[in-house]
Amino acid sequence: MIKKKYIRRLMVSPGSKVSLKQYDTGWAQDDELKRVGKDAIKERAAEILEANRASLAESQELLWASNLYSILIVLQGMDTSGKDGTIKHVMAGVNPQGCRVTSFKVPTSEETDHNFLWRYTRALPARGEIGIFNRSYYEDVLVVKVHPELLDNQQLPPGKRGDKFWNARYDDINAFERHLVQNGTFIMKFFLHISREEQKKRLLDRLEDKEKYWKFALSDLAERQFWDDYQTAYEMMLSKTSTDTAPWYIIPADYKWIARSLIADIISTKIRSLDLKYPEVAEETLKQLEVAREKLASE
Ligand code: ADP
Repeated sequence: MIKKKYIRRLMVSPGSKVSLKQYDTGWAQDDELKRVGKDAIKERAAEILEANRASLAESQELLWASNLYSILIVLQGMDTSGKDGTIKHVMAGVNPQGCRVTSFKVPTSEETDHNFLWRYTRALPARGEIGIFNRSYYEDVLVVKVHPELLDNQQLPPGKRGDKFWNARYDDINAFERHLVQNGTFIMKFFLHISREEQKKRLLDRLEDKEKYWKFALSDLAERQFWDDYQTAYEMMLSKTSTDTAPWYIIPADYKWIARSLIADIISTKIRSLDLKYPEVAEETLKQLEVAREKLASE
């Protein structure tokens, strides 16, 4: 397990004003980590990921059996920040029956014919399930804020699109999440924080390796030109929507092994803290089970 003190530092305190420059994207943001050194951390991170994967598989079974709560995991980050790889590595071992990943792309016309939260509501996890949002309703205060012309496709009633408009969206999101939490959904939100240099490296990687060509999208290069605008939109989003019940974690993501082990640790610690139990079987049912057992055994 990773020290609580360190995890707490990654969590955005509700109401605080986030400046992303103050969050390191690498592995040496913690003095203790610095002392241990990169190679030792890499080894430790692999062990932590493995242990948490096992714990996650076990907790998921309990989550499913107790059928009371659901878990919603939100992943956001710049292009190439490692959202897909995180899902693949952190959730390996989890029973696919109780886990649903939804990736959100540019909304369809059916989706823009509804309020902006509609399509996300339809993909929420049921009780007992873990739902992972690969991009989420937060795109509506990120890409849409960076390119406000996208609002023209959203069929909204006319009005100004200034601070008041965006603040109302943050409020809507906070109210939406509060509603979910009150009804038994635990929400964990991760911002995969990479540096501009690391993104350049990853994009070049996709252009230099034949097997990665398919991952390259020209639009990623276009969006990179808006890097600073995105960082500002992320800072605003993190400041306005990290709450006690649905906190944001800023995950250093230049090293994938660091990001994955941190996220696995935060999720499995949270599920373990729910202290879930297998449902108790009623006296009457126990009797019926005994009768069934005897019947089968005597066949
Ligand atoms: P990914 O990059 O997630 O692997 P894509 O390359 O298909 O997948 O990118 C999905 C695109 O959809 C992103 O550019 C993202 O900004 C965009 N998108 C997601 N949600 C919205 C939204 N609500 N409005 C406009 N664009 C969105």
